[in-house]
Amino acid sequence: MTLKKQVVVIGGGPAGMSAAISLKKRGIEDIILLEKENRLGGVLSQCIHDGFGLIYYGRNYTGPEYAFLYEQKISEYKVPFYTNATVLSVRALVEEKNSAASLVTVQTAEGRLKYKAEAVIAATGCRERGRGLSRIPGTRPAGIYTAGTAQAFMNLQNFMPGKKVIIVGSGDIGLIMARRITLEGGKVFCVVEKEDVPGGLRRNIIQCLEDFEIPLFTNTIVANVYGKERVTGADIAKIDSFGRLIDGSTRHYDCDALILSVGLIPEEDMIEDRHSGVFLCGNALFVHDLVDDVTLEGEKVAGQVETYLKRIAVDETPEESKYSFPGIELTRKKRAELMRKKKDTARKKAECNAKTITCILCPNSCEITFDLLGGMCGKGAEYVKNEILDPKRTLTTSVKVLGGVMPLVSVKTTGTIPKEKLREAMKLISSFNVEAPVKSGQILQSDFIEEGISLIATKPVAKSAAEKLS
Ligand SMILES: Cc1cc2nc3c(=O)[nH]c(=O)nc-3n(C[C@H](O)[C@H](O)[C@H](O)COP(=O)(O)OP(=O)(O)OC[C@H]3O[C@@H](n4cnc5c(N)ncnc54)[C@H](O)[C@@H]3O)c2cc1C
Ligand code: SF4
Repeated sequence: MTLKKQVVVIGGGPAGMSAAISLKKRGIEDIILLEKENRLGGVLSQCIHDGFGLIYYGRNYTGPEYAFLYEQKISEYKVPFYTNATVLSVRALVEEKNSAASLVTVQTAEGRLKYKAEAVIAATGCRERGRGLSRIPGTRPAGIYTAGTAQAFMNLQNFMPGKKVIIVGSGDIGLIMARRITLEGGKVFCVVEKEDVPGGLRRNIIQCLEDFEIPLFTNTIVANVYGKERVTGADIAKIDSFGRLIDGSTRHYDCDALILSVGLIPEEDMIEDRHSGVFLCGNALFVHDLVDDVTLEGEKVAGQVETYLKRIAVDETPEESKYSFPGIELTRKKRAELMRKKKDTARKKAECNAKTITCILCPNSCEITFDLLGGMCGKGAEYVKNEILDPKRTLTTSVKVLGGVMPLVSVKTTGTIPKEKLREAMKLISSFNVEAPVKSGQILQSDFIEEGISLIATKPVAKSAAEKLS
């Protein structure tokens, strides 16, 4: 069966949801949003930590809160969407001369569908690289996961990937997993990074590694993995600038898991040929650090699609751009440029690190001197004073749910609590259960650790799949 749609949006993450809502706001009604999972939200659903929406909304949402905000907008703007719908391919409809249309083939639970669309927005996110260990001698036992997989195990399925862990690669997901495993009672021996600077954001190095005294070894690789059925240990070793192992630098750890955080690759494989009318946005275009940028990009691409649709309506598409595919070129250039920028920034930060404190309140990560200079806003000086006298953090984690469609609900403290009380808080939380249904924002415990601070749910959990919750 081939259905007609003016625009098909692929991917129900923040980029796809933002693009679809923006299309609706622009009066483009004949659209469909397709998502392969059984829920909208994309990667946000498993990112239970905070740090989302700081720039776009000036608020510090957790991943599930940000996703829920957009799910509510999807229903407010009546965006039609289809979950459990995996797009298999996007092709030019060549049989129709100058039709400038795409054929989108979708696998759904009910069978295979095809959409003929004037424009397609691919907001399909990215996938993790798994290549970090391909050249390491040793066996390939169970206990080696990519960071995203480990994150989904812990945050969605209540399964601990390991108790004694080495993180391979210093990307943000690996850093966040180092903190998560530590807070859940596991031991993270170290993070090893083969480059001379870490890959993740400075604020994540501070709040995920330094806060918990987890060492980060740069110019270091995993040199050997041990274990037959399950990982029983690994060697790490220093490398020189040619990538050769430095004699005598090998160190052994009796670990039971290795977690790889060695990069992400934009997911665009379903687009089979380059043709006009196909637009990429979000992590499908290039890997973004911030959801704020992804959201803005979704809105921007909706504007480009609006212009494109107006042009094809009067057949004004310039000949030379008819079969262009700007996304691909932009992806490569932007990726290289981003990598360069990231390395330069990390080097500069490392240089001034000894004399300053990094403000971690927003992704700008300003370096503030001890005489309270260097912040791009007034919050920096306040942060440094608190960081010296009484360092505090917001706690994000999860609580077991009884009788719900999901085994866990993500939770956070409504304000910051003393840093040294984080472990005590986690111990308390491990004894909690909550009965489904759970509402987003529901208070699970008042005066939690500190007077006036509550522990609240950051997403809804229904009793049954049919139940709709706020
Ligand atoms: C661990 C982690 C921590 C992060 N921390 C922060 C942070 O603290 N602050 C911040 O601002 N940002 C953070 N980010 C970055 C930000 O969240 C992401 O850049 C953003 O969520 C990407 O959005 P997206 O819509 O492009 O991709 P995704 O969220 O990955 O969504 C893509 C969607 O497309 C769907 N899809 C893929 N292929 C198909 C197909 N063939 N058919 C149908 N559907 C398909 C997927 O199922 C998914 O739902 C973090 C990201 C990660 C991974
Ligand atoms: S001082 Fe810098 S890092 Fe801190 S909140 Fe202001 S802009 Fe963000």
